Amino acid sequence: MKVPHVAVLSSLGMGHVIPLLELAKCLVVHHHCHVSFLNITTEASAAQNELLHSPGTLPPGLHVIDLPPVDISSLVSDETPIVSRLSINLQESLSYSLKSVLIELGKLQALVIDLFCSQAFEISKDLSVPTYSFCTASAAFLALSLYLPGLDREVECEFIDLESIQVPNCAPVRIEDLAEEVRNRKADDFKWLLLHFSRLPMATRIFLNSWEDLEPVSLKAIREHSFYHQIPTPKICAIGPLIKHDDVAMTEADVECQAWLDKQPLDSVLLIALGSGGTLTAAQLTELAWGLELSRQRFILVARKPTDASASGMFFNVGGDVNDPKAYLPEGFLERTKGVGLVLPSWAPQLMVLRHPSTGAFISHCGWNSILESISHDVPMITWPLYAEQRMNATMLVEEVGVAVKLTGGPEKGNIVGREVIERVIRMVMKGDEGKMMRDRAGELKDSAQKALSFGGSSYESLSCVVEEWKKKIMP
Ligand code: UDP
Repeated sequence: MKVPHVAVLSSLGMGHVIPLLELAKCLVVHHHCHVSFLNITTEASAAQNELLHSPGTLPPGLHVIDLPPVDISSLVSDETPIVSRLSINLQESLSYSLKSVLIELGKLQALVIDLFCSQAFEISKDLSVPTYSFCTASAAFLALSLYLPGLDREVECEFIDLESIQVPNCAPVRIEDLAEEVRNRKADDFKWLLLHFSRLPMATRIFLNSWEDLEPVSLKAIREHSFYHQIPTPKICAIGPLIKHDDVAMTEADVECQAWLDKQPLDSVLLIALGSGGTLTAAQLTELAWGLELSRQRFILVARKPTDASASGMFFNVGGDVNDPKAYLPEGFLERTKGVGLVLPSWAPQLMVLRHPSTGAFISHCGWNSILESISHDVPMITWPLYAEQRMNATMLVEEVGVAVKLTGGPEKGNIVGREVIERVIRMVMKGDEGKMMRDRAGELKDSAQKALSFGGSSYESLSCVVEEWKKKIMP
């Protein structure tokens, strides 16, 4: 049998590593490929390394190759913003070792890369390795990413001075939903993003972690516009939702959390988790805690030390912080909510919690993986967007998909959301008819996701077609 050999290259951060690893597993288990997973290591990526190196969790045929860490201390400072820091790290790492690693791997049918690893295009081109991009965000975000480089050439003003951004045939992107990084065109973060976006058309194809029924409008729009500003768009293959199936190596605390959930009634627990790096300010965390307490609903709260710095400040230190929630939650909160709520410092086994029948709703920062995990387990959401494209995601979930509700006057406006609003919205979703409707809608999408991923489904077939092309190219 012809077995394609594919290299998969992820950028840093669990939000990227998790879906790329799932793609790698899917290629091995369902499409009989051999995959080399290239892991960019840093000293601060403890959770990432644990995920990739836990014994017995990867199928035979999937091998992890660690790219050595690089020292970027002379190139960044404490003030370097997140996208620039990430991009500099990746650029240094890929320049240092990607070429030699690819040569050592021998004949590859494909290299699949994350959006932020766009520097790899030049390296793989030199080696004649066909390179596919994997977009770990929504189709709407992908459409915007393909469209922005042209818009950047066309307009002189800041994008935030436009009324909205109208990617042809897509829902207009509201200016208030634009990511911080796209608000100032002179900023380094914008320049890096634009560089990554402008390299997307170099991809042989673009894989997307979404499926046809979730985003029919945006997918149709990208496909109909085979050119954005005269640049051809690669073919888009929606192959998702690729989400992890298990939380690797449950800790003692995770097992306790599961045992607690087992004792709670059906759909009665609210999960509050803000992604791998999300943090709140001290004032906002206080309001959230009070809102939770006043709502008198059962909950699991992933607690992170508040900070006034960037909401994504912990991005580079996932799993590395030890914190004591007692020190920053309102006085007496832990005692008063004992038995009703669980407070988990820093990290929760999110997938296990979302899958558990006792979980009824999710306050989410609207990272794309969290959204896919929530919908795949028919859990409706209360949106709490913080950074990157999360405000766009939140609007889409509420206005197009119908599985979420926003906190009015809330985080997407950069305001502090008061405890009364939080209390009211939590009750509405956990107890009201609106919550029930959203849960039903999430249930429909859960079924459609399962169908898309099964043999003969749209996502399965989309990936299968590409694998068949790879097989044809293997020399007998
Ligand atoms: N996650 C988790 N426990 C936590 C927080 C996050 O397991 O306490 C996982 C979550 O299940 C998801 C990923 O981390 O798979 C976060 O990815 P997402 O795209 O939602 O957000 P990002 O971290 O990239 O902002």
